[in-house]
Amino acid sequence: MMDLSEPFQSLDDPIRRSISELGWTSPTPVQEKVLPAMRTGRDLIVQAHTGSGKTGAFGIPIAEALDPEANHCQALVLVPTRELANQVAEETAILAKHKGLRCLAVYGGVGYQHQIDAFEAGAHLVVGTPGRILDHLGSGRFDLGKLRILIFDEADEMLSLGFWPDMREIQRYVPKKRQTCLFSATIPERVRSLARSFLIDPEYVSLSEGQLGPQQIEHYYVVTTAQEKETTLVRILEHDEPDSAIVFCNTKADVRYVTAFLQRRGFDADQISGDLTQAAREEAMGRIKSGKLRFLVATDVAARGIDISDLSHVISYAAPESPEVYVHRTGRTGRAGKAGVAISLVSGLDIGNFRYLQQVNRIEISEREVPKEETLRERLRERLMVKIEREVRALPEKEQRFLVQRFVPIVNELAASEDGRGDLAAICAAYMREHKPEVRVTDTPPHGSSDPEARQSRHGNDERPRRRRRGRKRGGTGASS
Ligand code: ADP
Ligand code: MG
Repeated sequence: MMDLSEPFQSLDDPIRRSISELGWTSPTPVQEKVLPAMRTGRDLIVQAHTGSGKTGAFGIPIAEALDPEANHCQALVLVPTRELANQVAEETAILAKHKGLRCLAVYGGVGYQHQIDAFEAGAHLVVGTPGRILDHLGSGRFDLGKLRILIFDEADEMLSLGFWPDMREIQRYVPKKRQTCLFSATIPERVRSLARSFLIDPEYVSLSEGQLGPQQIEHYYVVTTAQEKETTLVRILEHDEPDSAIVFCNTKADVRYVTAFLQRRGFDADQISGDLTQAAREEAMGRIKSGKLRFLVATDVAARGIDISDLSHVISYAAPESPEVYVHRTGRTGRAGKAGVAISLVSGLDIGNFRYLQQVNRIEISEREVPKEETLRERLRERLMVKIEREVRALPEKEQRFLVQRFVPIVNELAASEDGRGDLAAICAAYMREHKPEVRVTDTPPHGSSDPEARQSRHGNDERPRRRRRGRKRGGTGASS
């Protein structure tokens, strides 16, 4: 066996063998911090960037803690996508195998039988997406009554994809006494709300030097060209799905242009101009805060005096002309304990000026890539799947058998022709528009639909026997908004 450095060296033999198999010789910084912290049994919030080795950071302590003799699920790792479920399950399976622990990946979009069989064989560790996990819990095939460790991996991403209602419902199936650890590359307000609902007195582990608490504002810039600015903006909005955002432009002409561009693309956007009275500008802000409007496009002048601290994103369509303006734009988000994201589109020509602005303001602004087309498609697919699965879960069995089946041949027929596929896509688009992603962490009761009436009718005649729910809601309130 290879020579391992601490804290790997002191691990039990089976886990050291696994680590050697993975070719790891020394822990990554996040593993170095998280391993001892998780061993204490405390709840944790871990902020570390992508690629820092978070899977191992929770995988190793889980492998250490679980008992192969106890034949039930002892650890659950919730992840946002099926790709991640497979990836994490693969790595943790290696970490756990020499100890005789079985690991299972569970996610939607595939048949149930294989997963059901695997549950029957017994899994000590389950890695899965919240929707499908909830399916199995609801049908009684899966039991978390003896869960000891709950992990949220990529928590922010999980919330972005609209999994909050599912996560909240899962909470009812897990015992109150457990260890819960949350991992995320970023810790915006909604992630902290999630932490408040699920974690008790967590320890905060961050890899960013000199930072004691979660960062209030995350600063990013994206390099683009003058020609591609609008499409870059659209891609960022599509990718991040901000709850609400203000888009700053440097000129009134840009404000008009960007607003029209966004509206044409189906974004819920409006502009404010400096010609409006303070009251009219406040009114526009009110519409954003109440969720009636999502994107506000403005110049610095038009936005003066209005409080944007409730907005999740501040986007600079054009890089601010002076360091003071940057501080002014971004300094008003992330207030009152809320975290915000600031993103600046910077064209090649402005880069020098933008670097200068960072230096003057002593703000660390990290570069972000323009989201790729395939990434956007994948996220859209995931968001749609989250919703589809929730709908299917909420369907009474009778309806599943008859009404839904009625549509199967029709869907087949439609999917066979170009026009028909366009029609199906239109239905998906309309559905997504009407059912906005539930990215906010709220205290509303968990269920498929946010519309109480729809919920009533859907569940009203549900004769499917429902299992009694175990465990109690923990932590009470603590969610934001
Ligand atoms: P994150 O979840 O933080 O994005 P991952 O857990 O996916 O990162 O790890 C990124 C890569 O680093 C993976 O390929 C993983 O196998 C590898 N890795 C993790 N820990 C170590 C280690 N201690 N030594 C070498 N490679 C490691
Ligand atoms: Mg990861």
